[in-house]
Amino acid sequence: MANNFARVLSSKRNVGILSLIGAGSLTAGFLLNREHVTAGAQARRVYPASAEYPDLRKHNNCMASHLTPAIYAKLVDKTTPNGYSLDQAIQTGVDNPGHPFIKTVGMVAGDEESYEVFADLLDPVIKERHNGYDPQIMTHPTDLDSSKLTSGNFDERYVLSSRVRTGRSIRGLSLPPACTRAERREVERVVVDALAGLKGDLAGTYYSLTHMTDQEQQQLIDDHFLFDKPVSPLLTCSGMARDWPDARGIWHNNTKTFLIWINEEDHTRVISMEKGGNMKRVFDRFCTGLKEVERLIQEKGWEFMWNERLGYILTCPSNLGTGLRAGVHVNLPKLSKDPRFAKILDNLRLQKRGTGGVDTAAVGSTFDISNLDRLGQSEVQLVQTVVDGVNYLIDCEKKLEKGQDIKIPPPFKK
Ligand code: ADP
Ligand code: MG
Repeated sequence: MANNFARVLSSKRNVGILSLIGAGSLTAGFLLNREHVTAGAQARRVYPASAEYPDLRKHNNCMASHLTPAIYAKLVDKTTPNGYSLDQAIQTGVDNPGHPFIKTVGMVAGDEESYEVFADLLDPVIKERHNGYDPQIMTHPTDLDSSKLTSGNFDERYVLSSRVRTGRSIRGLSLPPACTRAERREVERVVVDALAGLKGDLAGTYYSLTHMTDQEQQQLIDDHFLFDKPVSPLLTCSGMARDWPDARGIWHNNTKTFLIWINEEDHTRVISMEKGGNMKRVFDRFCTGLKEVERLIQEKGWEFMWNERLGYILTCPSNLGTGLRAGVHVNLPKLSKDPRFAKILDNLRLQKRGTGGVDTAAVGSTFDISNLDRLGQSEVQLVQTVVDGVNYLIDCEKKLEKGQDIKIPPPFKK
């Protein structure tokens, strides 16, 4: 099929395989080329791994908790077939010791194979970040049957908006921290081409960042539809903001309730959102839309990165599995000032962010509350966790309003 052929041509994997073979005896021309490409790796032969080891003494991200000199020495000279290295994968966690609200992961994948090649570090990081999920022995379930969700309507005196998002990556193309400009443009082409097939309520238009005015872009950001400019050092240090805004953009339906981000942190982010507390309707649209997007991508001869141990493969290990973050903007003036708030969230396996996104502070007492886990549980289970958890938080808020006592719930059991 023509598209499959194009995919093979556009994959850097061919180049990577050649350079792996190049470790043996090959022609002078190829060795010259290889010397040029691997100048960094040669420097490492001069200095031992122990001399290259990053200073992580002030760090509290997951990568820093699990990287040891022995693991570093074992992995530092390995690369994926695309040429992605451990040092590239951990750079963002080296440069960003911690985050005020959440324990960050501290590393990213450059391609699908990163998760295999650097598994000695990534597996324990994944285990910590995903509540004990062991990628060596466990398999990940997918369930996009939104009819199973119960009590998905929130009290709108507290919940201002509801949102469910995930990410999906196109197999055969490097992820944003490592992709070339051509690969990034290919992701945009493939996805926009497929999305043109969406019909009815889902039909919409693609808006490329390069063709948008600054005001249009800012308006979409302020209205919470579009990703922020890549100012966060978590993003820039990983390499995923290179060439900004080339091949970035947002596709959305006419009512801006179904949106797809292209080439931000992931190849794609698929989002369903609306004002108010109807999480049930948001999740219905999310499931219908996502299945349709996958069908259209496959119709064009491409597929999403996926395996049964890790589920859907995304740039940040925190998003593996479902890639799903279901959340609400919820106003909790009393509970958010209570010293038990953090523990309650933790026990409900919920995460708190600022209202403008992961790197912002809360506006007043309005927080973005979403699921902490992504892997090992299905989409339906995770959205149900958010629904039950947010209802519990609202209940606490109402009790505090009446001067009644609240309880820290027991830790969430899987
Ligand atoms: P993501 O995990 O989707 O990347 P971010 O924290 O980076 O989320 O935020 C991206 C944008 O989505 C921000 O503008 C944020 O305000 C918006 N957002 C997140 N959750 C909600 C919600 N429940 N309602 C409205 N906007 C939201
Ligand atoms: Mg984000």
